[in-house]
Amino acid sequence: MVFFSKQTAVILLLHRVSPERNVMWDPMDPALFEQVLKYVQRRFHTIPLNELLFQPRAVSSRPLAAITFDDGYKDFIDCTIPLLKKYNMPAGIFVTTDCIENNLPTWTYLLDYVFERSKILSLRQADFGALPAEYRIANWHSDAQRILYGKKIKQYLKWVPAVLRKAIIQSLLSNLNDVSLPSGMMMSWEDVKQVHTAGYEVGPHSVTHPTLATIEDDEELDYELIYAGQQLKEKAGIDSPVFSYPCGSYDDRVIAHTRRAGYKAGLAVNRRLYKKVAHDIFAIPRIELYNESWLKSRLRINGTISFIEKIIKP
Ligand SMILES: [Zn+2]
Repeated sequence: MVFFSKQTAVILLLHRVSPERNVMWDPMDPALFEQVLKYVQRRFHTIPLNELLFQPRAVSSRPLAAITFDDGYKDFIDCTIPLLKKYNMPAGIFVTTDCIENNLPTWTYLLDYVFERSKILSLRQADFGALPAEYRIANWHSDAQRILYGKKIKQYLKWVPAVLRKAIIQSLLSNLNDVSLPSGMMMSWEDVKQVHTAGYEVGPHSVTHPTLATIEDDEELDYELIYAGQQLKEKAGIDSPVFSYPCGSYDDRVIAHTRRAGYKAGLAVNRRLYKKVAHDIFAIPRIELYNESWLKSRLRINGTISFIEKIIKP
């Protein structure tokens, strides 16, 4: 049992809820999401994120919670909203504006998708730039090997300088060109407007979904922060005080730029509860949930999974 003080809240992060199973990046099954909602409804007082962050707290007998989604997948409308409505729960969604513009998922999803579906086992014109030797692989013996490599390089690319990442992604996608890219998975601007009108908070989650702390160029960092917000305002009439950092990536410089861009808060990802007095409002921890067992999800929601893992794996 975890004891929540009045200053402690849980802010959840999800990406997709869908009955579709995906070996590379599995959306949360609607049945598990329903279990999450029932539990959160019983144990917490769930309020809109902006209210949790910026309004003085009303006295509540239960600890506060907020639910957020990142990236802007269309199944938010088809699968998530019907369940949120069923339990009368508020939620916010943070969208990547280029995903809306191009009608394509984030680069991490695209890499997963292409590595999983391609039949190509050798890269003809691989340009690995400055990648270390272990990632300079242009031939695989099987699909399984290629998929494994795809998973590995995706994780690695999250943390390399943005310029290198872009070049490598471009090279990989143009080599594995036997797969047509998945369109129609992301919300359109019309969808975004609808979701907002239906009462769900919408905020920016960058333009191209880079790990912001890896961007060395100030102008590029500002572009990701400022242009995402501008697009949201121009295309959907939404002015959000909160920015969600892609992959939860931030550092002091990212915080300074986010603040200068006019935002009032920045959302990170961390397996911790949010303590208003202890946490920087530009580094708000959110607890990410996955499609896994209910027991694990419950430990995550309560912020206790790290303790339990330490006991199990000393
Ligand atoms: Zn994201």
